[in-house]
Amino acid sequence: SQVPSITLNNGLVMPQLGFGVWQVPDDEAEKTVATAIETGYRSIDTAAIYENETGTGKAIAASGVARDELFVTTKLWNSEQGHDSTLRAFDASLDKLGLDYVDLYLIHWPVPAKDAYTDTYKAFEKILADGRAKAIGVSNFHPEHLKRLLAETSVVPAVNQIELHPQLQQAEARAFHAEHSIATEAWSPLGQGRGLLEVPTVVAVSQKHGRTPAQVVLRWHLQTGNIVIPKSVTPSRIKENLDVFDFELDADDLAAFAALDEGKRLGPDPAEFNVGA
Ligand code: NAD
Repeated sequence: SQVPSITLNNGLVMPQLGFGVWQVPDDEAEKTVATAIETGYRSIDTAAIYENETGTGKAIAASGVARDELFVTTKLWNSEQGHDSTLRAFDASLDKLGLDYVDLYLIHWPVPAKDAYTDTYKAFEKILADGRAKAIGVSNFHPEHLKRLLAETSVVPAVNQIELHPQLQQAEARAFHAEHSIATEAWSPLGQGRGLLEVPTVVAVSQKHGRTPAQVVLRWHLQTGNIVIPKSVTPSRIKENLDVFDFELDADDLAAFAALDEGKRLGPDPAEFNVGA
């Protein structure tokens, strides 16, 4: 396919653009993921808490695409953190997905109040060693959480999946990741379609290129080096979000995007998000 890849720090190759399925109900996930795979997506991002691993797995099984051409990510929910509970939760996720391995397994949030992410990650290292995940990583970890993980565990996380879009550019996190060979994956890359796609700069750049606001935002991510996982349940948008490999933003466009950073979070601050502790 024309989707570029990112080589993770353990050599695993990951498509730079994939498909996110947060807020897609399980009974719709099968159809939506099937549409995404037919459209050409090869990377799917789900999580235990999305409660759509079953539908996602059904779409994967029915797709006719070879397992080794797909890249499947799922995530451990906060309430399951801890060594043994992690191993049980991973079994349940694999079972729902109908797979014998995932490509990437992520700790969904650090949950500082629970203070269990290093024990949890040691269970992840076992899952990795057993070949049941091809890579392991984290999500929503601030550099302070990563520093502790790097000090207390052996395998450097392959990925940190964080909220990242033009209004929350995450320069400090991105620099820390680069320094430690951790790939940066952007969640809510389109700012959840709330406001960002109407920002005058984004609209102006989109008109200049004769593309949609979503497409120029995705170009910004790709040219910034981020892995992206835009979500849509609308077939025309699913297609539009993958159709971003035949144009480029120029230096003026990138400078205009740089000025949009306002540290605007749509989701919670991971330092304070302790749901499931
Ligand atoms: P997103 O930024 O991908 O935005 C999705 C929304 O934008 C859609 O629901 C739709 O309303 C709109 N949209 C999509 N394509 C469009 C288009 N072409 N034109 C106009 N509007 C369009 O938001 P998201 O779903 O929050 O994030 C993407 C994925 O990231 C999720 O599905 C999930 O897989 C992952 N995620 C992870 C975490 C985490 O904590 N790790 C948190 C949130 C999301």
